[in-house]
Amino acid sequence: MSAAARPALSVVPSTPLDSIAGLADRLRRTFDSGKTRPLEWRRSQLRALKALVRERGDELVEALQADLHKPTLEAWAADVGQVTTEAAMALRKLKGWTKPQRTGFFPLGRSRIVHEPLGVVLIIAPWNYPVGLLLTPLVGAVAAGNCAVLKPSEVTMRTSAVLGRRIPEYLDPEAIAIVEGGIDETHALLEQRFDHIFYTGNGRVGRVVMEAAAKHLTPVTLELGGKSPCIVDHDVDLKVAARRIAWGKFMNAGQTCIAPDYILVHESREQELVRELGAAIHDFFGDDPKRTPDYARVVNRRHHERLSKLLASGEAAIGGQSDPEDCYIAPTVLRGVAPDSPIMQEEIFGPILPVLPVRGVDDAIEFVRRGEKPLALYIFSSSEATAEKVVGATSSGGVCVNGTIFHIANPALPFGGVGESGMGAYHGRHTFETFSHKKSVLSRGFRFDPKWMYPPYGGLKTKLVQRFLK
Ligand code: NAD
Repeated sequence: MSAAARPALSVVPSTPLDSIAGLADRLRRTFDSGKTRPLEWRRSQLRALKALVRERGDELVEALQADLHKPTLEAWAADVGQVTTEAAMALRKLKGWTKPQRTGFFPLGRSRIVHEPLGVVLIIAPWNYPVGLLLTPLVGAVAAGNCAVLKPSEVTMRTSAVLGRRIPEYLDPEAIAIVEGGIDETHALLEQRFDHIFYTGNGRVGRVVMEAAAKHLTPVTLELGGKSPCIVDHDVDLKVAARRIAWGKFMNAGQTCIAPDYILVHESREQELVRELGAAIHDFFGDDPKRTPDYARVVNRRHHERLSKLLASGEAAIGGQSDPEDCYIAPTVLRGVAPDSPIMQEEIFGPILPVLPVRGVDDAIEFVRRGEKPLALYIFSSSEATAEKVVGATSSGGVCVNGTIFHIANPALPFGGVGESGMGAYHGRHTFETFSHKKSVLSRGFRFDPKWMYPPYGGLKTKLVQRFLK
């Protein structure tokens, strides 16, 4: 569907500001009543999330297609379906996650760690995977027994409208609220006191969120982005590497936080890699990627304009076509890109892939280390030692060796950034932990209570303690 054919909603759906005021306090009353603590309540909300996806998944996918021209498979596998997978896992594991953890022997009492819900949490999501990035954090928040306010992105307004309509139908409205809208509505929320803020989006707004949170000493998780590099060594099967890179880059038209942002390839293989990338793009999207249902669009005219300017940073070896009316930019591979060109100064977040030759992996490591810490790093090499060297010498939220994106799919791996790409992590049990306080509890009996432990200490006791501790 072209952008022109995608009917705009007449107004961006937004929640009236006067009903946002006092929302956190209203939910805190529910939390204080103890309603959200029993495992049965948590299970009911997890089941309701699964039902929402089962019964309204098609409606959400339709909205995603209208907002982003998202391919149906991607909408299910990488966005809406994530909610089912995470909720099903939480339902299976809830009993184990919430069980107090006993620690090893400690002579002064029995010790355990209790996972306590934090209270009322705020989850703010962006537009690129607008369902999954809003509702998978919610899975952990309700599994941990919290109340939550959800704030979807206004940029994908049709998806926001469906979520705004369906969330109150499926989830307990006394404990879970959704607020639609943009900057004003988000600020109206940020003024209130939450017990945790989970924000996914860009680093500029991440700073706004952290500043607002500081006022109430509210802890934050910041899931941000950045330029995720992809290093390609001289010794790899380029056909496979190119396919995996092109898939990770051009999924959702490059609007994925962990999409390979640029490639650093061994100079001896640059030409061949570009050729294989071209072949992979052709295999995926055919002669005219504009006509396939399997290729998404840039989210709006503003981002299209931003990306169109970045096309000038190099020479389009593949693609380069652009149509503002349809928010379309062809899958593009750029060569001849200078490291100080505009496209290398910001996260691209679109379907343009610069390929920069390097003399070897050491140069690539140095290049990466000069920039901010990325959210993801990709290394393609046939040598395990080389891959390990890159893992050890660079810092990033996560790494995928000889692949792209898939490290996010394993719920056992915490997903999150480091430095400029964010703080905190989630997925699977890690989401439950993010929304829990690990409370230490030590219990003593009455029988063992030797008098010598108490004052007066006297010289002998002090000497004994000193001898014991030196
Ligand atoms: P966005 O514009 O939808 O903003 C995200 C949220 O912040 C929205 O709910 C929006 O209403 C709110 N917001 C926007 N401007 C604000 C302001 N001035 N004050 C208060 N709230 C404001 O999304 P975006 O930031 O363009 O998202 C893209 C970025 O997110 C990219 O950098 C991408 O890498 C990153 N991202 C990270 C992850 C991750 O998991 N780490 C996932 C997806 C996207």
